[in-house]
Amino acid sequence: MKVDFHCHTTASDGALTPSEIIDLAVQYNVECLSITDHDTTAGYESALEYAKQQGVQLIAGVEASCSWRGQTIHIVGLDFDVKHKVFQAGLAEIRAMRWDRANQMIDKLNQRPNFNLTNLGDKIRQRVGPGIVGRSHFAQLFIEEGLVSNTPQAFDKYLKRGRVGYVNSDWPALEAVVGWITAAGGVAVIAHPKVYKFTSRKLNMLIADFKLAGGQGIEVVNQSRPSSDIIGMADRANAHGLYASLGSDFHRPEHTWRGLGWLAPLPEKTTPIWALFKTPIKGLEKQK
Ligand code: MN
Ligand code: MN
Ligand code: MN
Repeated sequence: MKVDFHCHTTASDGALTPSEIIDLAVQYNVECLSITDHDTTAGYESALEYAKQQGVQLIAGVEASCSWRGQTIHIVGLDFDVKHKVFQAGLAEIRAMRWDRANQMIDKLNQRPNFNLTNLGDKIRQRVGPGIVGRSHFAQLFIEEGLVSNTPQAFDKYLKRGRVGYVNSDWPALEAVVGWITAAGGVAVIAHPKVYKFTSRKLNMLIADFKLAGGQGIEVVNQSRPSSDIIGMADRANAHGLYASLGSDFHRPEHTWRGLGWLAPLPEKTTPIWALFKTPIKGLEKQK
């Protein structure tokens, strides 16, 4: 049975609407899905009814940005009470910070004499619409305007730390974000642990702080990581008593390296994240 606990819709920086994601899940036989948009549950909420009609089980999800020792970390929250007030207020706080950062990025880029993209602010606002602004909206615009040819180039040239469009973001602390998710009855998961490029020692430090804050899961399988990475992360999860999650981080169909539900199975020795869910997953035995 195919499951995927990490993907994005137009409610944040994905290319497909919530109902298109459900259609794709049906097409790829993904029976259980979490829509984990950046810092919003709007996509999940608007997909609920259609998912039910289409026979796709949706688990509440979000991918929240937080700060840990000066670095941005993404925490996936799963199976929470979407109406929880403290949790939703926390997400609203992060969303406000995202627009604040985007406006600073727009100002910085506009002030650059050799950066000639007219009406940058309007174009970004139009592109994001009611969604959640992120650096990938800038990257997509730069691609369409011919400034760069792909997303990695956009980050390398303009958006990453040290480049003209980079603005440091002061996200809420890891402890706060994990606290909001657990207060809402959800399970917190460290997203894509390899993406941060931490040393083994530093990753262990992150895991220790995350566990102290009440975090319980880590993505062991994500995107198209080599199997050695999966085995290594499974061992690390077991060593720290963490539950294992899996998710594609799907954003758009042309990113073929992270297709919806295209995931290696969790290694046998791990304890799957759904053992912690209050919502039983149809077709999967609760494993302890
Ligand atoms: Mn994203
Ligand atoms: Mn992420
Ligand atoms: Mn993601």
